[in-house]
This record gives sequence, C-alpha cells and structure tokens, in this order.
Amino acid sequence: MIERAFGEDGPVVPVIGQGTWRIDGAAREGAVAALRAGLDAGLRHIDTAEMYDGAEAIVAEAVAGRRDEVFLVSKVVPGNASRKGVVAACEASLHRLRTDRLDAYLLHWPGQHPIAETVAGFEALKAAGKILSWGLSDFDVDELDDALRIAGPGAIACNQVLYHLGERAIEHAVLPWCQRHGIAVVGYSPFGSGDFPDPASAGGQVLATIAARHGTTPRGVALAFLTRLDGTFTIPKTVRAARAIENAAAGAVVLDETDLAQIEAAFPLGKRPRNLPML
Ligand code: NDP
Repeated sequence: MIERAFGEDGPVVPVIGQGTWRIDGAAREGAVAALRAGLDAGLRHIDTAEMYDGAEAIVAEAVAGRRDEVFLVSKVVPGNASRKGVVAACEASLHRLRTDRLDAYLLHWPGQHPIAETVAGFEALKAAGKILSWGLSDFDVDELDDALRIAGPGAIACNQVLYHLGERAIEHAVLPWCQRHGIAVVGYSPFGSGDFPDPASAGGQVLATIAARHGTTPRGVALAFLTRLDGTFTIPKTVRAARAIENAAAGAVVLDETDLAQIEAAFPLGKRPRNLPML
C-alpha cells in the first residue's frame, strides 16, 4: 500500500482509505465486517461525519480494540461550527465513536459561521488533545485563502473535495493550491458515488484494458489514478468486505505513462468550472 504524509509534517497515511456515508443503510454486521476487512487490508484511514446518521456508531464497533491502528476523521456540520458549537459537536462525535481523540476533524463545507470562529474551536480542541489536526472540506481557492490567512501556515491538514474520473475540476486550482501550501487533498466519491463508468462504455473498456495489464480491476485503476499526484488521498465507501479488499489492492498499483495517457483521453479534465463542484 502506497502511503504519504497527510499534510505538512503530518503522519504517514495510506493513500486509500474508507468512506462511511450511507453505511448505516446496510445490515450493520456487514458494514462492520467490511470496515474491519478494509483495516486488515491496510485501509487505515476511516472517514466519517456527524452528518452520516448512524455511521459513527458503526465505525465505533469496527475500530473497537484497534483504535491505535486507525487514522480516524470526522466532520462538523457548518451549522454547528461556531467557536463553542465545534467543541460540543466534536465531544458528541468522540462519544459516538467511543474514542478520546480524532486524528483529523473537518468542517464539512463552508457555512454561516465566520471561519475564524471555527478555527478557534478547532485550535481549542487541538490544545485539549481531542483532535490531533483539523481540516476543511469543499473549500474553493478563495475560501482557502481566507482560512490560511486566519489560521497561518501549517495549521490546515487537508481539504476534502469531490474527485473522480468524471469530475476532475480540482486539478485546475484547488489541488495545486493545496500542494503549494502542504495541505493534503482527500478526494471523495472516487466511484462517482455509485455512478462508475459502465463496462460496455468506451471509458469502461479503457479501464478494463489497463486493469488487465496491472492485474487489477477497473475500479482499482480509478483509485490509482486518483492518488497519482503528490498530496492526494481517496476514500471509497463499501459495505462489502470483498470490495474493501479489492479497493485496498489498488493501493499497490502504479500507472505508467501509457496508462495515464489513455485515461486522460477517455476522461478528460475539461474546462475550469466557475464554482468548485461538490455533492
Ligand atoms: P463512492 O464513490 O465511494 O462510491 C460508493 C459506491 O461504490 C457504493 O455504491 C458501493 O457499493 C460501490 N463500491 C465501492 N467499492 C466497490 C467495488 N470494489 N466494486 C463495486 N462497487 C463498489 O461514494 P461516496 O459518495 O460514498 O464517497 C466516498 C466517501 O467520501 C463517503 O462515504 C464519505 O465518507 C466521503 N464523502 C464526503 C463528502 C463531503 O462533503 N466531504 C461528500 C460525499 C462523500 P457497496 O457499498 O454496496 O459496496
């Protein structure tokens, strides 16, 4: 499994992790077993959020007895991201996750509270040892500029953003900005949130051809592509153990120039949109 530093001077984290949005829609034992199978296969980064209803409680069950292996991330919804609200929301997440600390705690998307207040809450949590780092999600460059001005260099661990083969907009500006400032970029919805290229489509056939060359699957090729650049991570979600193992295997795939050129042709970057795309 390829690993890299999570932000400037951050811990080393595998490039592929596990998402948990909607895992509570499946049978609980299956979701827990899938997360554990993922952990066994090296997917140590687990991404959850207070907004994901019962997901934090399922994660708690999956990581019970092995918390120290995990790079555990949760998120505060913008409505709770006042100076005091962020502290209370984090404490509630810690309670649901049955842990004493988060490895990273993120603002789920930019919201109504001034970012200075949210940052003050994050810094108070960090000083108390309840979070080891903090980051952002769905922040475009102008919002990142504001956050950096307030927090100062080295404070923001990551920006979690939409990134899959059909939506590469972050490559225009957000990703280079984060790379310049030593901020990890965690791509969410790497399989298009369930809308992955059909095997019969032209793009699907390109992925299958490359996958055959590397002894992986089309999704494995996608995950390798989405983590090919400095500072990038990805967090596919599955409630099936076999799929978690398949996703983990992609962490060893290194694409060559030919592969990259074929993917670029089949899934072009496209023009820079006016606003950062998000779910
Ligand atoms: P993904 O792009 O990860 O796609 C998930 C879908 O792919 C599910 O239907 C899953 O099915 C299926 N799948 C997963 N692995 C495989 C496989 N190997 N073979 C076949 N199918 C597979 O969707 P998400 O939108 O969930 O994104 C991932 C994570 O990113 C979220 O769970 C969440 O943690 C984070 N996120 C963050 C957001 C933010 O605002 N910060 C927004 C959206 C997501 P099944 O489960 O049945 O196996």
